[in-house]
Amino acid sequence: MAIAFESLYSDIAGRCGKLTVGRKTIKTPALLPVINPHLNLVTPKEIRGMGVEAIITNAYIFSQSKQYREQALLEGLHKVLDFDGVIMTDSGSFQLSVYGQVSVSNIETLSFQRDIQSDIWVPLDIPTSPASDRKTTERELAITMERLAEARETFGPDAPLAGPVQGGIFPDLREEAGKAVADLGFPFCPVGAVVPLMEQYRYRDLVTVVMAAKRTLPRSACVHLFGAGHPSMFALTTAMGCDLFDSAAYALYAKEGRYMTTHGSYKLAELTELPCACGVCRTHSAEEIRSSPQRERLLALHNLHVTIAEIARIRQAIVDGTLWELVDERCRGHPQLLAGYRLLTSEAPALDRVDRVSKRRFFYRGDESCTRTEVIRYQEMLARFRPGENVLVAFDGGAREGFDEIYLFKPPFGPFPKELKETFPIGQSEIPEWDEAMVRQGCRGIRALADSHPESTITIGCSRRWESIVRQEVSGCGVLTE
Ligand SMILES: [Zn+2]
Repeated sequence: MAIAFESLYSDIAGRCGKLTVGRKTIKTPALLPVINPHLNLVTPKEIRGMGVEAIITNAYIFSQSKQYREQALLEGLHKVLDFDGVIMTDSGSFQLSVYGQVSVSNIETLSFQRDIQSDIWVPLDIPTSPASDRKTTERELAITMERLAEARETFGPDAPLAGPVQGGIFPDLREEAGKAVADLGFPFCPVGAVVPLMEQYRYRDLVTVVMAAKRTLPRSACVHLFGAGHPSMFALTTAMGCDLFDSAAYALYAKEGRYMTTHGSYKLAELTELPCACGVCRTHSAEEIRSSPQRERLLALHNLHVTIAEIARIRQAIVDGTLWELVDERCRGHPQLLAGYRLLTSEAPALDRVDRVSKRRFFYRGDESCTRTEVIRYQEMLARFRPGENVLVAFDGGAREGFDEIYLFKPPFGPFPKELKETFPIGQSEIPEWDEAMVRQGCRGIRALADSHPESTITIGCSRRWESIVRQEVSGCGVLTE
């Protein structure tokens, strides 16, 4: 019954892995489409046919349903929903957050989730709104943690329990919650109550709270970003180490006539073309979907296709070591996503500890690339080099008299001995014509080399064009210009 997670490939803090639940295994990152048995635009069986291995549904809806309650208790969820993959159930915390209260206790909902044969059970946590003040957040977190402890105690260490990490908008509370959930031994940890942040495009806050939770969760924990359903933010959140997403968005957007793409959504009413390769879009015109009685279903199918394809693209990027490039591409779809991405690159020193050492390539995509993990890691590595006594860092690669060693220069990384010319990242990085941001960052590399080797005298040979940046960033070193 127990839940186990294994990471097979990683890039930044993102992982391609294997989540095992009882005898079932799913590939991660994964999308769990949200199924509401009362409004099935797309059936679980169709979703399974699209390659989806896991879905999520709401135990509270089943427990309150005259139509489904007894059937689910008798036959089990898999039979009722006609889905043979992994089924996760949410407890009803969502209803709690919307309506203020639910008429079931923690143990009751968990027993019910067990009795309907759910594969992953979620205790009745309290999803504290980001608008809540610190006192409220602390109080609600304490209740959540009591309920998680009660769940472990009642159902034992092998029960397939999720341990949600709450803590509202406060990074230290998210850290504390992550640690407490880890101490209780939960291998499956949703980061909860982030939907309002995403709805309000507060991606900086999203990065802050997810990074805080990740700081204290063990690397072995499978992390589910609760309620994250828009494909435009999957790459960013995967890069932080989120493994699972659940999406009601495909259906909710369809109901509102919204057509998803990986860089945002369009109103179907405004589309004259359908810029997508899925079956729906290649067999219908925008006008045909608009006027079809099946409009919501067709849109839901398209939205699901786009969402699932993005997950596949992310998995490939992780295997290839090109996730930063994908994050960069996606985060240009909205200024607030870009803000979240910029905050994430400022966390590069923390991410650097988990990022892989070698990748297929480094594509420079503008200022944001300057503080990527590969650059930070390279510049930290400079302290371990053994430069000679009198070193020239030659921007143009040309030798000059009077030096016992020549280093070359590749921005945004910095100085390198020519033996490293073919190795990652120097040899596998593609950069366009030098710009100020990358040269400035590269100069920080020279400074790192100089600071860590006071016994060496370092001189920089550059053209007049870069002289002032070099003097600003590497004061104290000699500069030669031609
Ligand atoms: Zn489509």
